[in-house]
Amino acid sequence: MDGYTDNDISHVVEADKAHVWHHLVQHKPFETGEPRIIVEGKGIRVWDQHGREFIDAVSGAVWTVNVGYGRETIADAVREQLVKMNYFAGAAGTIPGAIFAEKLIEKMPGMSRVYYCNSGSEANEKAFKMVRQIAHKRYGGKKTKILYRDRDYHGGTIGTMSAGGQDERVMQYGPLTPDFVRVPHCMEYRAADQGWGDLSGEEYGRRAADAIEEVILREGPDTVGALCLEPITAGGGVITPPPGYWDRVQEICRKYDVLLHIDEVVCGMGRTGKWFGYQHYGIEPDFVTMAKGVASGYAAIACCVTTEKVFDLFKSDPSDPLDHFRDISTFGGCTGGPAAALENMRIIEDEGLVENAKKMGERLMANLKALEAKHEVIGDVRGLGLFQGLELVRDRGTKEPVSEADIGKIVAGCAERGVIIGASNRSVPGLNNVLCFSPALIATPADIDAITEAVDGALTAVFG
Ligand code: PMP
Repeated sequence: MDGYTDNDISHVVEADKAHVWHHLVQHKPFETGEPRIIVEGKGIRVWDQHGREFIDAVSGAVWTVNVGYGRETIADAVREQLVKMNYFAGAAGTIPGAIFAEKLIEKMPGMSRVYYCNSGSEANEKAFKMVRQIAHKRYGGKKTKILYRDRDYHGGTIGTMSAGGQDERVMQYGPLTPDFVRVPHCMEYRAADQGWGDLSGEEYGRRAADAIEEVILREGPDTVGALCLEPITAGGGVITPPPGYWDRVQEICRKYDVLLHIDEVVCGMGRTGKWFGYQHYGIEPDFVTMAKGVASGYAAIACCVTTEKVFDLFKSDPSDPLDHFRDISTFGGCTGGPAAALENMRIIEDEGLVENAKKMGERLMANLKALEAKHEVIGDVRGLGLFQGLELVRDRGTKEPVSEADIGKIVAGCAERGVIIGASNRSVPGLNNVLCFSPALIATPADIDAITEAVDGALTAVFG
């Protein structure tokens, strides 16, 4: 940690304690304790204010820094772009905006148009607005309803919270936006709770998709405009869908003229061992939203990507002032964002990081399965590529979740062993607790083994 004296660091800690309202955390403990300040990062590692080194097994805590820390070529690309041209509103084009859109669409056969914005929530809001406008333009104000799934997360704005499948993130912020309707989750491990009998594998996948059709029929197909799903549920517990689910979902969407919106904010940009999570399942979405890995956290950039068919709906009558998408995002697409995204994509391609995510994901899965064989507290191991989770339960038979306090101890135990892991903590009583692993896509076999060794040690220390 060059360039900081002890005094500098203690000033930063005091300033942080006095003035920063951190995301997601209860601040009372900070009155006596100390917040973690992350000072530097390089590759897959970060250093805190005390110079302690950690392997970051969650890419910036929330699945973001796909290409790892300290990438000078991204910083250079952003600098060069900002000096040349830092900002112009998105009604005009920019060089990096055009070139990144072209390259992105090359990775997404069937998709065509990129609408730039700044965050995952905002990208999802854009898709929701497009769906609503289509409902007004094409369906006389019907088909405004948007279906979302139990346990999925799409953001922290009022609109995206209205599509929020994690109750504890939503329950204190109502009233929410009307016309968002929940469909049941598709989590085989918790299938027994859904009252559909003892189903597994493809049979369960089809049943969970049929549940979407039931909701469409209950609401009325002429009122449902879109279905918004994560390809693999992230914060809701790293939930991979069983075979049979996505084929049936696609079939249902086509049958009832429901647009399919895939939220790739976490899974996008190689994380799961393909460029996009939905590409594992052979589906053809109408909207794909993405954010975190688009520039790996080197710039705030997000995209709402659509097909040409959707885009065409917004230019059918130039004489009508209401015909186009009446939306703007001041900073969306300008210009450091796409410059960073372009270089981020070059790195992913040139270094073969999508392939590495697949390969290292297989190693991570094998290691986690070995932990499952050793630790009774592990109820389920799930995930794809470098995006995996362990569900911890008090009893494998009842599947009763371990307490949040125990999850906290495991997270702290890993940090003591030099590894930062994540936890998807649903604080609603009775729901599961899942440890999350999503290291940068540059992870080596040694990194993967170090991560699972720390988890092994922490599990042994807490549960024996
Ligand atoms: N969708 C998913 C699947 C997410 O995990 C998140 C963020 N964790 C979002 C959307 C929202 O992204 P942002 O925080 O950038 O608004």
